[in-house]
Amino acid sequence: MKVLVADSISEAAVKGIKDLGVEVIEKTSIEKDELMNEIANYDGIVVRSRTKVRKDIIDRAGGNLKFIVRAGVGLDNIDVDYAREKGIKVMNTPEASTNGVAELTVAHMLSLLRHIPRGTSTMKNGEWIKKQLVGHELGEKTVGIIGLGRIGKRTAELVLGFGAKVLGYDPYVDKVEGLDVGMTDLNELLTRSDIVSLHIPHTDETHHLIGKEALKKMKEGSCLINCARGGIIDEGALYEALKDGTIAGAALDVFEEEPPKDSKLLELDNFICTPHLGAQAVEAKDRVGEEVVKKVASKL
Ligand code: NAD
Repeated sequence: MKVLVADSISEAAVKGIKDLGVEVIEKTSIEKDELMNEIANYDGIVVRSRTKVRKDIIDRAGGNLKFIVRAGVGLDNIDVDYAREKGIKVMNTPEASTNGVAELTVAHMLSLLRHIPRGTSTMKNGEWIKKQLVGHELGEKTVGIIGLGRIGKRTAELVLGFGAKVLGYDPYVDKVEGLDVGMTDLNELLTRSDIVSLHIPHTDETHHLIGKEALKKMKEGSCLINCARGGIIDEGALYEALKDGTIAGAALDVFEEEPPKDSKLLELDNFICTPHLGAQAVEAKDRVGEEVVKKVASKL
């Protein structure tokens, strides 16, 4: 069996696949033309989000390609239905980054509530603005979680550990087994939560779910966090809401365009961000690698 590793994965994962007796070709900066020319030589391909496996690539595989492994969660870079129609198995590693994303979400909550980024930047400028940086305790807050799948549930578990109250909204989940999450509707979640955190996919249904109207419903002094996908929040509306004080703060790990170009959000003191770091933890990457090896092994 011959597998193309088209985006970088951990060395341990590459070794793990080789140890299965598979021939591994690593071309982690391969461009589309080269991939078009070579794809028919492989039984499987491992990608992250950089390499796109669209209909044209799948057609060029000419029936030789048997599986695609996406090292990570989102399958937006793969024409999944078309691949499956052609008998190609598409696999991802959805569990591996759950804890890492949930922990980053909580880190953003604490950073916003305790002004950690502003404390750092002002001190580096020689200022000591202690009195202006009085914050809030997470344990005294109500956290509204939109999307109670893997990451939403883990986030709920973590913030419950701080003593916070948790409200949840998910049209496909009635109840969260074993966790004290008050399931409610979107309207009530927005009006009652001190922190609203998004953990849903970006689809036609969720595009700009949080726009001007939703932001207006949020509680005075509340914060918004998105460690899910860009496009769920209307960033123009968010800028206005942060600027005019409709909400107190926001933290984004994901953007409508990545990296964001000329985003006015970056000018605001009450906006903090990370460059799509949700799954960028050593432990999460190791877990992704282990999962990738298991997925390849399942096709031997
Ligand atoms: P999941 O599929 O386990 O959970 C998603 C949940 O969203 C499901 O329970 C689903 O019912 C719910 N949902 C769907 N549409 C909804 C709607 N309109 N309103 C409310 N709920 C809705 O997914 P997950 O693994 O928990 O991932 C959640 C998000 O985090 C995804 O967008 C994923 O791409 C993203 N993610 C981000 C990073 C990062 O680096 N920041 C890393 C991994 C995953």
